[in-house]
Order: sequence, then C-alpha cells, then structure tokens
Amino acid sequence: MRITFWGVRGAIPAPGPETNRYGGNTSCVSVMSGAGHLIILDMGTGIVRLGHALLAGEMGKGQGFASVLLSHAHWDHIQGFPFFPPVFVPGNRFHVYGNAHSSGLLEGILEGQMNPHFSPIYTLKNLGSNISFTAVMPDESYDLGGIELRGRLNPHGHTSALAFRLDEAGRSMVYAPDAGYADGGPTPEMLELYRGADILIHDATFTPTDRATRLDRGNASWADAAAAAVAAGAKHLVLFHFDQDYADDVVDGMLHACRSELDRIGGKKIALTAAAEGLELEL
Ligand SMILES: [Zn+2]
Repeated sequence: MRITFWGVRGAIPAPGPETNRYGGNTSCVSVMSGAGHLIILDMGTGIVRLGHALLAGEMGKGQGFASVLLSHAHWDHIQGFPFFPPVFVPGNRFHVYGNAHSSGLLEGILEGQMNPHFSPIYTLKNLGSNISFTAVMPDESYDLGGIELRGRLNPHGHTSALAFRLDEAGRSMVYAPDAGYADGGPTPEMLELYRGADILIHDATFTPTDRATRLDRGNASWADAAAAAVAAGAKHLVLFHFDQDYADDVVDGMLHACRSELDRIGGKKIALTAAAEGLELEL
C-alpha cells in the first residue's frame, strides 16, 4: 500500500504562511493498493489537489474507479467533494462507503450537500460520473480490489465517526480521524480494530490542555493518540486532523511532546510522524 496525505486539518481549512509546512487543507488521504486499486479516505478540501493529480491517468479519460471511505459527513470530510474534478468526467466510477443506517440514507446525505441552497450542482445526478453507495456495517468486511476493509464507530461529540482498517497481504493500516473517546480511551471493540496496525493514522486535533476545554468537539489530543497506539500495539503512529488554529510550530511541539509521552508509557518502539500534505508512506 502507498499512503499519501492531501489534507491533514480538522474543522475548516487553514491556509496561510503559518500553516505552510503541514498544510491547511482538511482531511483527505489516498491509498494505492499493491494491485493498483485507489482508495480515498475522506473528501475534505485536500481531495481537490488529489483530483487534479488523478486527471493525468485513467480518471482523465473517464476510465477511473476508486473506493471512497467517508468517516462521517461533517464539513471537513465532505467539502472537497463538489470540487473534485474526476467526479465531473463521464465514465469514472466511485463507490462510497460510509456511516449511515442504510446505503440509501448515505446517498441522501451527499445528495443534500448538492441542494441549491448550498451548491449550484443541484443534485448528484448532475455529476458526470457514476457514484454508488454502501453503508458500512460493524463486523462486516468488504473486499476493495484485494484489500480487506472493516469499519467501526468512534464517539465524536454528539455524533459518531467511522474508523477504518485496511489489510493487504499481511500489512495493515488504520485511519481514525475523529475520536472523542470517553474517559479510559478507546473501547475494547475499537482496540480490536486498531490491534497491531503497521500504521495508525489517529486524531490528534488538540493539545491535552485545549481538549479539556473543548470536550464537546469530540476530538482527541496527541496524548489520547499516544495512549491508543500503545494500548493497540501499533507500530507507527501518525498524528492527524490538527486544529485549524494551530500554526506549524504548535504542531512541531505536539510531535515532540507525543514522542516523550510514547517513551514514558511503554511505546518506545512506536515510530511517530505528524501528517503533512505531500507525505507519502509505503507499507
Ligand atoms: Zn473532522
């Protein structure tokens, strides 16, 4: 699997000179499987640059296919969708996996985003590509071109957000972008999903101090991410989904503090990275 980061912020884009190094776009990560199947994790504003890059290949000819894994439908995870150039190219196909009680309801959520009050597109049917939907059920697994997908829900403020696990040929990655754990951290079911992941991309929206005053946002701190990585036996923790108000040097400080915390709580062997736009990881 080749993992590429296109947007690493939470909540709202944060462009500007103080966020240039990590980047200001909201959540989007792409995964290319060993067999050449494209998986897109979330559709924040980072997906726009991904889309332009994809137009150079099959997507530019209307022969592209991708699986899109939508953790939940807050703005920072869907806002790039109506600006993703490949969805306007007839012939391209997308299959969206997401959090809803049924596949029809999942389609309805994204259809609502196209409502003329919010968008000139009016309806998904005006996009040239073919888009289909599957509501992810806990404890089901799905075959994405040779990659096994599983998803489970984390608490996220007054709602919930899917975390996804991808397994291919004995290698695994987990994507957990919005995780507002109750006291005590991830549930046993979530730890089972995270267990032994070669790469754990985890919500690290806040410093612990800021998280304590913003519990209603339903997001994790870097300390929560470190604790989850140790509890799950993850091999490499990638901090992700940074608060829009944090400049690059704040994220540098979070990375440094998280390293110390991992060493302190038994995670000395866990590699640590702060996600940044353009970062690529091979698995
Ligand atoms: Zn988010």
